[in-house]
Amino acid sequence: MNLDGKIPSGPLPQKWDKYKFDLKLVNPANKRKFEIIVVGSGLSGASAAATLSELGYRVKCFCFQDSPRRAHSIAAQGGINAAKNYQNDGDSVYRLFFDTIKGGDFRSREANVYRLAQVSVNIIDQCVAQGVPFAREYGGLLANRSFGGAQVSRTFYARGQTGQQLLLGAYQALCRQISMGGVQMYPRTEMLELVVVNGHAKGIVARNLITGEISSHSADAVVLGTGGYANVFFLCTNAKGSNVTATWRAYRKGAFFANPCYTQIHPTCIPVSGHHQSKLTLMSESLRNDGRVWVPKRKGDCGKPPGSVPEQDRDYYLERKYPSFGNLSPRDISSRAAKEVCDEGHGVGPGGLGVYLDFADAIKRLGANVIHERYGNLFDMYEKITGENAYEMPMRIYPAVHYAMGGSWVDYNLMSSLPGLFVIGEANFSDHGANRLGASALMQGLADGYFVLPYTIGNYLATSRQPRPAADHAEFKKAEEEVRAFINRLLSIKGKRTATSLHQELGRLLWEKCGMARNEAGLKQALKRIPELREEFWKTLNVTGDSMELNQALEYAGRVADFMEFAELLCTDALRRSESCGGHFREEFQTPDGEARRDDENFAYVGAWEYQGLNKPPVLHKEPLVYEEAHMSMRSYK
Ligand SMILES: Cc1cc2nc3c(=O)[nH]c(=O)nc-3n(C[C@H](O)[C@H](O)[C@H](O)COP(=O)(O)OP(=O)(O)OC[C@H]3O[C@@H](n4cnc5c(N)ncnc54)[C@H](O)[C@@H]3O)c2cc1C
Repeated sequence: MNLDGKIPSGPLPQKWDKYKFDLKLVNPANKRKFEIIVVGSGLSGASAAATLSELGYRVKCFCFQDSPRRAHSIAAQGGINAAKNYQNDGDSVYRLFFDTIKGGDFRSREANVYRLAQVSVNIIDQCVAQGVPFAREYGGLLANRSFGGAQVSRTFYARGQTGQQLLLGAYQALCRQISMGGVQMYPRTEMLELVVVNGHAKGIVARNLITGEISSHSADAVVLGTGGYANVFFLCTNAKGSNVTATWRAYRKGAFFANPCYTQIHPTCIPVSGHHQSKLTLMSESLRNDGRVWVPKRKGDCGKPPGSVPEQDRDYYLERKYPSFGNLSPRDISSRAAKEVCDEGHGVGPGGLGVYLDFADAIKRLGANVIHERYGNLFDMYEKITGENAYEMPMRIYPAVHYAMGGSWVDYNLMSSLPGLFVIGEANFSDHGANRLGASALMQGLADGYFVLPYTIGNYLATSRQPRPAADHAEFKKAEEEVRAFINRLLSIKGKRTATSLHQELGRLLWEKCGMARNEAGLKQALKRIPELREEFWKTLNVTGDSMELNQALEYAGRVADFMEFAELLCTDALRRSESCGGHFREEFQTPDGEARRDDENFAYVGAWEYQGLNKPPVLHKEPLVYEEAHMSMRSYK
């Protein structure tokens, strides 16, 4: 099968404008005849639901939290990129485009990335108009800082709480539509099945998490803005609730899953402190604007207090290895460099799995008050977790799983391989290729929700001519039965293990065999063990309580059941991609100095998997990556 990305013709800078003109429109009076389901109310879902309703469509929006305001997006710390060039430091739409393509190790779709860079400037205007309190310079202009993989300052921020402030903006736009009746909001409601009628996505089956009631919802189109799957690793920086369920259940109904092996390891997280831990905490990349990363040169100094290691005995390894980008080298590269120095025995802290992030120079140069203004909440968070004051001693950090570049395959319209199913934000396979640059997830989620989907979904609605089925259509009844059977199966095992312990075991396996570095032998071991573990899950799981009540053990067990299947696809994808690129580092494919060695001849494509049934090998479809503007080259940050 030839996967058609539906990339418009014409010169790259004009593709989106021309395409928007070519798209069919739905006239204002007809818009209110269409119903759209938006699952997710994070930055992508809330911005999409609010904008679609503002346009006149009738929207139903679902989230599993008690309020859209609690979506995982609220955790985003460091900032959002946009090619405004306020700093006059050489930025442009083209430079943001190119940095993102290069940052993704030439594994993203060129036309999508160019469009993303183009609309980035609109996002900032939109958010400012909503009242998002971005940091400002003394004279009142919006301030910027730098993020990894860029040599300009293009990141807009609100201290270390950018996600929270952006989400408040999107949330209030959503609330306006809820109050006007355009959006019907379903909090505490989890989508558990996608319903397909005549080959088109036409609704969902959901469970009310308070009462346990199962209900069907039909629509003219379904949008998933359900976030990323990094929690498959158990320990990661995502909110505990983030999961793969919506995109996985859509996969099982025919929506291809693209590049699942592209997961991002973030270099600056608070190191793991023990097996009791259920979550890891990010220390924003923005800190590397002022913090310097180092380890002791002499192994014997690793146990000493950092202040007692003299300057000449410190290895500022990022500045040494990558002098052009230094501490702001991209995440995949910085993470691997941290692993390398720790593997060589230079790590600090318990188990030697840590490196220093030191602000002493910046505090001397700028004063502690400026550092407090820029990153105060991050320093407080660090102190609350570690008991250490980072104004007085360096932070200790180590890489951790952070983001999913893989996700549902979508074309240029953000439509999946299932007509009528659109996927936005972190849930789609996205614009980030094999590695996402910092501050570009918020940009992509809001670009999708505010500026791309509202155009492209109209074209589908105007042309598909597929009537909206009633919610008691036989396909809905069937899907409801599947959901009930799944829940009953989980509850009836009555084994001895908790979903947490099984999830923890799966996560450890993935981290060891498919984490920061992977190899063929390890991946084969993981692929042998995952089906066994899945069987153990279905034999030994214990879920207490009932289905017709608030039962968080049941919710969680359902998500872990999906992780148990998804993990196999992730490792299958990693094994098949016999090259190293971005966050996917195969030890067999590296340059003599330890950098990722791509194989453009054989792997310059998006790998999209099609479900064939449980325990049957999925089928791989390839979308070739053709670059009209960017020249595929060996990435260098030296
Ligand atoms: C600690 C941290 C800091 C970050 N900092 C930055 C940053 O500074 N800059 C940046 O660009 N990116 C950052 N990121 C990444 C960024 O925050 C996320 O990629 C982005 O917010 C994801 O938004 P989203 O709308 O796609 O999904 P989410 O915000 O995860 O929202 C998912 C929504 O889907 C709903 N949902 C999921 N499944 C179901 C289901 N089955 N049924 C019903 N509802 C469902 C949830 O309830 C939720 O409303 C950070 C990430 C982390 C973890």
